[in-house]
Amino acid sequence: MPVLGSALLAAARSDGLRRLVASAPVTRPVVDRFVAGEELAASLAVTRELTDRGLQVTLDHLGEHVTDAAQALRSRDAYLALADALRGERLGTRAEMSVKLSAFGQALPGGHDIAYRNVLPVVEAAAAADTTVTLDMEDHTTVDSTLAILDALRERFPHTGAVLQSYLFRSEEDCRALAAAGARVRLVKGAYREPDTVAHTDRRAVDRAYLRCLKILLAGSGYPMVATHDPRLVAITQALAPRYGRAPDDYEFQMLYGIRGTEQRRLAAQGHRMRVYVPYGTDWYGYFMRRLAERPANLAFFARSLATRG
Ligand SMILES: Cc1cc2nc3c(=O)[nH]c(=O)nc-3n(C[C@H](O)[C@H](O)[C@H](O)COP(=O)(O)OP(=O)(O)OC[C@H]3O[C@@H](n4cnc5c(N)ncnc54)[C@H](O)[C@@H]3O)c2cc1C
Repeated sequence: MPVLGSALLAAARSDGLRRLVASAPVTRPVVDRFVAGEELAASLAVTRELTDRGLQVTLDHLGEHVTDAAQALRSRDAYLALADALRGERLGTRAEMSVKLSAFGQALPGGHDIAYRNVLPVVEAAAAADTTVTLDMEDHTTVDSTLAILDALRERFPHTGAVLQSYLFRSEEDCRALAAAGARVRLVKGAYREPDTVAHTDRRAVDRAYLRCLKILLAGSGYPMVATHDPRLVAITQALAPRYGRAPDDYEFQMLYGIRGTEQRRLAAQGHRMRVYVPYGTDWYGYFMRRLAERPANLAFFARSLATRG
């Protein structure tokens, strides 16, 4: 990862910088490019707009790394309210939910059990709304716990999804295991700052690993969710899928809200399943900094708006 991206990912964990960036008056319009809004109602409005256009969504109530049990319960309750609202929208799996287990208490002492206890009712509520949950993947220290919680949830809710990050050395093995188990797997490159002892740090190596993982998932018995904005990987997936006997409804593409919207609509118009990851809520800082780190042009855009208005 370039030095700038790495510094931004470090900044994503800084409380001081969080306060500074959050209070800068020009921040909001830039954040709005990536975040649907602060309230549940705003996320539902975006959900309707996107699903009306033939896209699907996965909704993320922003929040991560909670530091006490009460905050974890508030995350759970926000998702229960979301599931309830989705039930009313009657969109089925066209609108699913993505959760970060660190928002459910995974990093607290005894956090594995706390996160499981808090996420279970959300997965139950999703099933009652005829939809599903995907467990986002965070930094590498959380992977074992997250995959163990996934296994436990899938005993009753086999459609619960996982995310695997191609930059981690371990992910090919994890892809093999989940592909054989028939799981829904979202494949991403990975968005956290990881040491070179556990992850590829060269972009081309990450891309090559993504391809190897993609082939494993396409060949397996699960449902691959190809989450990338990379035009080359999208084209390769379109070429490879039929060779693995996969029709367009046997896998899906996923992209983030605010990134390559024209491409999202183009793929949907071609008959592909295209799901947009829609974050909402007030705790947008960590998510926003990861988006800046992915692309220097985003940072330049942000810096320009600071300079012209500040
Ligand atoms: C639906 C979805 C869910 C995700 N969930 C997780 C998760 O649970 N855990 C995790 O670690 N990561 C997650 N990610 C993030 C992922 O790991 C990557 O950091 C991110 O998708 C950028 O990688 P890329 O595959 O798009 O390829 P890149 O090579 O980074 O980008 C390819 C092209 O896409 C465009 N692009 C990419 N990022 C941006 C951006 N921020 N702003 C503007 N344009 C951009 C640019 O045109 C760029 O050239 C998720 C991504 C998606 C799409």
